[in-house]
Amino acid sequence: MKQVLISFWVIFLFANTICGVMASAQSITGQNEDRHSPLIWRVHDGKRPLPPVVTPPTYMNPDQPATPPSDAVILFDGKDMSAWRTMDGSPAKWIIKDDVMESVRGAGYVRTLQGFGDCQLHVEFATPTPAQGSSQGRGNSGVFLMGIYEVQVLDSYDNITYADGQCAAVYGQYPPEVNVCRKPGEWQTYDIIFKAPRFNGHGELIVPAFITVLHNGVLTQDHVELTGPTNWCSRSPYSIHPPKLPLALQDHGNPVRFRNIWIRELPATPDSPACRKQLILGDKILQRYVGAYNNPYGGQVQISLADGQLYADFPGGSADQPLYAESETRFYSAFVDAEYEFELKNDAVSGIKINITQGGWGEYSRKK
Ligand code: MG
Repeated sequence: MKQVLISFWVIFLFANTICGVMASAQSITGQNEDRHSPLIWRVHDGKRPLPPVVTPPTYMNPDQPATPPSDAVILFDGKDMSAWRTMDGSPAKWIIKDDVMESVRGAGYVRTLQGFGDCQLHVEFATPTPAQGSSQGRGNSGVFLMGIYEVQVLDSYDNITYADGQCAAVYGQYPPEVNVCRKPGEWQTYDIIFKAPRFNGHGELIVPAFITVLHNGVLTQDHVELTGPTNWCSRSPYSIHPPKLPLALQDHGNPVRFRNIWIRELPATPDSPACRKQLILGDKILQRYVGAYNNPYGGQVQISLADGQLYADFPGGSADQPLYAESETRFYSAFVDAEYEFELKNDAVSGIKINITQGGWGEYSRKK
């Protein structure tokens, strides 16, 4: 009998322990889901809890921009906006004042000339002082990874708005873990790690985008899975896009200032084709290359343009090879070891030199 009782208590205690572990795991998971899952909350849900306010650390000197690492691509160092364009590829219309770049109401978003996929990004920004407006109308801008996925920039210092639209939110999806905003006019930092979504050849999503954000040195987004592109009042599904696209900054009508913007492509292996420099030139420049080209031996190549992407088509051979720009005239194939150099004569495109698998340059003249 004694043995039966001991066995009973062993089983009871064991079962209790297991149930306790399961119960606590469930409550932790449940809490996380409540807090983090954008699917539980409506877009811009006013009942969604606001993150707690946290005073930012003081180890960073707000008057002294952080020094970029040596392998970073410098996007803005106070000198000029040569790394930036308006969205259609024309010169950027934001202003530079006192080594700082400032958004201009009505000038539109600015985007980088270069495209980026996976990256580590550093941005410093300051919202206007004295503060003007309220809610989404106060110090609104945004950092758009790939020009599509927004980390909100907003003056959230003593400024209430919906949780998924405040500063350091993944707009419309995830409020920040904490509100660590500095006062209007004070310099603030974003350090962002972004993993671009992956699509298969049929345009289907294979891996969603992920984002991690440190705002003023404090973790505000912890590797959250993006539900799709950023939109106001909706959560759109993913749709296929190139592996690299420009970074964009938003003009939302408020004069938000930016300085010291740098980016590191990930993984940091400069020789990998995935890390090769890729410019996003815009249709106006790309359109001039569209046409048929012949070489003296009867070879042909057709260059076409669709959705901002240049393609090379060799009739009877390799079809529709996407071409990425390394400069305004130099391109490379996305999938084959092939280099393209367009030749200009009096500003008109006269031909292309093509080097396939490093076998030497072949000359193609533009068909009249
Ligand atoms: Mg915004």
